Amino acid sequence: MRITDVLRRKGATVVTITPDRTVTHLLESLAEHRVGALVVSRDGATIDGIVSERDVVRRLHSDGPGVLAQPIHAIMTATVRTCRVEDTVDDLMRLMTEHRFRHVPVVTDGRLVGIVSIGDVVKHRIDELQSERDHLTAYITG
Ligand code: AMP
Repeated sequence: MRITDVLRRKGATVVTITPDRTVTHLLESLAEHRVGALVVSRDGATIDGIVSERDVVRRLHSDGPGVLAQPIHAIMTATVRTCRVEDTVDDLMRLMTEHRFRHVPVVTDGRLVGIVSIGDVVKHRIDELQSERDHLTAYITG
């Protein structure tokens, strides 16, 4: 199963935020869209970074509440690992496990075309196992 199949089901919508917005704006957007990370992008298509709730938590712990007024570029991860629509879900699971992050933007020709979270991967895997189980049950009882 490939990333393109995951995106077909969940859609290609990616919430982005510009690097000059504050961490307070980031928290508003994370809450509004009910997601754990946003792609940081100045134009909504190319990737400048990625920022997750974990970045906020770590910086709150190390720097205190003053971090809320800081721009997102001060706390984001600038070197972003991405995947392609033709990659497999297994490739992505390996990438997430190896690097210990839960979000991977999908890029085609240098442009953002989607994002896959660990929740999407788990949902996909459960659906796959359920379908295998249904086929086996039908084979045995049919
Ligand atoms: P997450 O598990 O996605 O909440 O992110 C954990 C940490 O990894 C945070 O510091 C994120 O900024 C960073 N991160 C998340 N996704 C990626 C990615 N695709 N490439 C590089 N760093 C990432």
